[in-house]
Amino acid sequence: MPLDPSIRTVLERTKGFMPDAEGDALAAAARLAWERCPGAPIVEVGSYCGRSTLWLGSVAVECEGTVVTVDHHRGSAETQPGWEHHDPDVVDDRVGLMDTLPFLRTTLHDAGLEDHVIAVVGRSATVAAIWSTPAAMVFIDGGHGEEPAIADREGWVRHIAPGGLLAIHDVFPDPADGGRPPYECIYLPVLASGEFTEVSATGSLRVLQRH
Ligand code: SAH
Ligand code: MG
Repeated sequence: MPLDPSIRTVLERTKGFMPDAEGDALAAAARLAWERCPGAPIVEVGSYCGRSTLWLGSVAVECEGTVVTVDHHRGSAETQPGWEHHDPDVVDDRVGLMDTLPFLRTTLHDAGLEDHVIAVVGRSATVAAIWSTPAAMVFIDGGHGEEPAIADREGWVRHIAPGGLLAIHDVFPDPADGGRPPYECIYLPVLASGEFTEVSATGSLRVLQRH
């Protein structure tokens, strides 16, 4: 991916959120999704500062597609103060809560993606409940606890168009590698539904296709 020097800071600080190889696999999935379902949007759940959005957005430019990225921007349980992935620079001191929206806006602006990426600020389940457009792909990378993972599966998988894709991040079949909810509460039940087949696995990124 060609990187504008101005967005390097964001990319550096959020490197741990999406390794390059997984980002490239995500971009390949987006390309496939738009081949199968041209004109339908791609939905990303969990924008954070926009690192993974860069890969989706670069394919959106190429395919003239639209990405909708959803996040309440208050952080997940695992990015709150005191947790391993916490970054004190993303706390809004006035309200004492995380606020990653300004970082996402900077990323999208500096990468020239504002015409291709729509940022939706809100709880994933709330947005999913009023959503009605079939999606070319849904990429789930939001809250990684059991409750948000189940809510994301129940809220978003039904919006994937026939032939469309479901990408899931942080899927760790081996508990030694990381938390289990994306694997146990999204990946396994979706495969068990018989409606999806796996098309790729790169690091912790899994891509499934709806029949
Ligand atoms: N996809 C990003 C990383 C996302 S981190 C990247 O690779 O760069 C997870 C994000 O999910 C956090 O920004 C957090 O605020 C958001 N999130 C967690 N639970 C959520 C929920 N229930 N609704 C909306 N956003 C949520
Ligand atoms: Mg992730």
